[in-house]
Amino acid sequence: MDGWYVGIETGGTKVVAAVAAFEDGRPVLAAPETVVPTGHDPHRTWDAVRDAVGEAAGGDEIAGVGIASFGPVNLRAGRMGPTPKRGWAGFPLVEECRARLDAPVAIDTDVNAAALAEWRWGAAGGADVAAYLTIGTGVGGGLVANGGTVRGLQHPEIGHLPVPRMPGDDHEGTCGAHVGCWEGMTAGPSLRRRYGIAGEDLPDDHEAWDLVAWYVGTGLSLVTLAWSPEVIVVGGGVMARGLHDRAAARMVEALDGYVPAPRVEAPHFGARAGLYGAFLLARSAAGSGLP
Ligand SMILES: [Zn+2]
Repeated sequence: MDGWYVGIETGGTKVVAAVAAFEDGRPVLAAPETVVPTGHDPHRTWDAVRDAVGEAAGGDEIAGVGIASFGPVNLRAGRMGPTPKRGWAGFPLVEECRARLDAPVAIDTDVNAAALAEWRWGAAGGADVAAYLTIGTGVGGGLVANGGTVRGLQHPEIGHLPVPRMPGDDHEGTCGAHVGCWEGMTAGPSLRRRYGIAGEDLPDDHEAWDLVAWYVGTGLSLVTLAWSPEVIVVGGGVMARGLHDRAAARMVEALDGYVPAPRVEAPHFGARAGLYGAFLLARSAAGSGLP
């Protein structure tokens, strides 16, 4: 064992943190992960993470910390962007984390971290270019290309690309920032707006799932044209309805043979892909390199 690594995944409602050691190149958790409400005071949230991490590590030194963050986040400055999440806009995630855990900290988006975990150990193993998408209360996407995540001006926001409209669909979308963007037409809030009930309450044989599969698959064709991934891993609560095959079929139809169709997979790590990716970030923060 070469020390303890901390993985932290932040989301709009909860923050998940865990301590692990790498054994045979994989993180093995020291204790079950801790879940802290995100809340409106990030200082208190980070205090709770520090306390949980200290306990799980038995007071030992921490070698590195990885943060898989919800967005928007300024990755270069290590601070939150202008998020509507009360109390979090501009919060210096990296600096406040380093001050509490006294260890080097690396940060990426939650979806880039998830892409990293699936590429390194999961459903996208070995691909030169691998995309990870989540279709849930929003639509987000991350990308691993040639061994690293894609992060530039800010980070990809693939969920806000405009998406072609399904024939006969006059819905405007629920994004608030854009009419007809992929997220606004596809994610959970659009189901509630269209059908009057939450997606989780819709039966499996409801027509809504044909519509969702159409929009997911159409978006996958855009991701394929833009990013050229060999594999697209698709997670998120909406996909838990087993829409992968239907979405992949729609993607193939939309691509219409112009480019080859990538593999479409469910995440090996389920809802924990971001957390496992955070351990890879922790590893890089410590200068230990990829396991
Ligand atoms: Zn949008």
